[in-house]
Amino acid sequence: MSALWELSATEIAARVGRRSLSAEEVVRAHLDRIAALEPRVDAFLHLLPDRALAAARGLDAALATGLAAPPLAGVPVALKDVLDLEGLPTTCGSRILEGYRPPFTATAVARLEAAGAVVLGKTNMDEFAMGSSTERSGYKKTRNPWDLERVPGGSSGGSAAAVAACLAPVALGSDTGGSIRQPAALCGVVGLKPTYGRVSRYGLVAFASSLDQIGPFARTVEDAALVCSSLCGWDPHDATSAALAAPDFRAALAAGVEGLRIGVPWAFLEKGVATGVLATFREALRVLEAAGARVVEIALPHAPHAIATYYLVATAEASSNLARYDGVRYGLRVPAPDLERLYGETRDRGFGAEVKRRIILGTFVLSAGYHDAYYGRAQRVRTLIRRDFETAFAACDAVATPTTPTTAFRFGEKTEDPLEMYLADVFTVPANLAGIPGASIPCGFAGGLPVGLQILGRPFDEETILRVGHAYQQATDHHRHRPPLAA
Ligand code: GLN
Repeated sequence: MSALWELSATEIAARVGRRSLSAEEVVRAHLDRIAALEPRVDAFLHLLPDRALAAARGLDAALATGLAAPPLAGVPVALKDVLDLEGLPTTCGSRILEGYRPPFTATAVARLEAAGAVVLGKTNMDEFAMGSSTERSGYKKTRNPWDLERVPGGSSGGSAAAVAACLAPVALGSDTGGSIRQPAALCGVVGLKPTYGRVSRYGLVAFASSLDQIGPFARTVEDAALVCSSLCGWDPHDATSAALAAPDFRAALAAGVEGLRIGVPWAFLEKGVATGVLATFREALRVLEAAGARVVEIALPHAPHAIATYYLVATAEASSNLARYDGVRYGLRVPAPDLERLYGETRDRGFGAEVKRRIILGTFVLSAGYHDAYYGRAQRVRTLIRRDFETAFAACDAVATPTTPTTAFRFGEKTEDPLEMYLADVFTVPANLAGIPGASIPCGFAGGLPVGLQILGRPFDEETILRVGHAYQQATDHHRHRPPLAA
């Protein structure tokens, strides 16, 4: 009999729905687990135990009156601190948002709560989601549950670590260039970035609006599919959200991978992938072949330019989005004798070094005289990258790569050289530029650390990605391994 904190979201919802388990018991078990392990993992920025227990009791009372069980009944969820919950702090990992309390709740969060999920708290992240290690948080370091001396990845490192350490069965993150898939890979959990437009961004603090997407972390593909059916769908508050109803993603899982063509861009993977990661990736492909998939070679000729393109587009959009933090309307205000200095001193004190670097770079690439040479050209390369995928998806149904070139690195290993850190996202960034969905599935270990298998799909074809991931998990047991953290 497994402990309550080990249960999958699917199982929790089923048992709470049958009234054989109360939401309150489930939430208490997770709060106890957090109390025991959080001092070592440091996944959370704010915990909301009273709110969570009240919500759980409210759900139990409603179920006792005969209410039909909602799809996520009693499922505890952790939220990256970039998602708004009305009246409660949202810091985005930044000192500049200290004290800010949003007047509304993000649609993605409201949808999960309406489906019976219970929010446990807000998780740590790189400041404004800029980073790949969570070391850029203005508050604290989150540790990788598999090795406490290593980073959990980022920017949604707190959410990934929370799910890996069984502090929550599911969590939400945001992915602008890999921030769900990369930490999922480094922490050995499932992470899905849906198609751009699939999930409403209302109430998600903006980093780069044409790239940002919200998505789930979970320990099984089945749980990610369950959460996605509640998460996705049109929202009048987000003009870029697609007018498509969310399918029953779980129903798609049973189809398996028989006859599916999985494309591998071997030329793109040639350089820079650690030997252990590449060997694990090849083994994962063999598992999928044994399950009936056909592995074919594809080309993504412009993908090697994705990092450069991303750092022009993303910084340009960030410089514009972050202009609003001026000490007047949100969070921190450093008093100064005049308005100009109030703006300057608040931004100087409130933003960390990486965020400043991005604002400066983004402002430069948008400035008169440089706009066409940098931003305009990056937009054109972005189109070429999108077309690469269109061509590839004529010859295959899903694309597979390792999620990251290496396993989790040590604290401080990449903080001195920003370009080194940027390269951690070499395989994840193309999907954001193309707007397509992608997931990372745990596919084994190299040197004792988790490796992620990235599966990318056609626009709005999350189902195929989930099918591949589920078939993989049916054939393997990597997702059943737990990090060595005694409670
Ligand atoms: N690591 C990338 C960056 O620093 C991606 C971040 C993200 O997806 N939010 O921009």
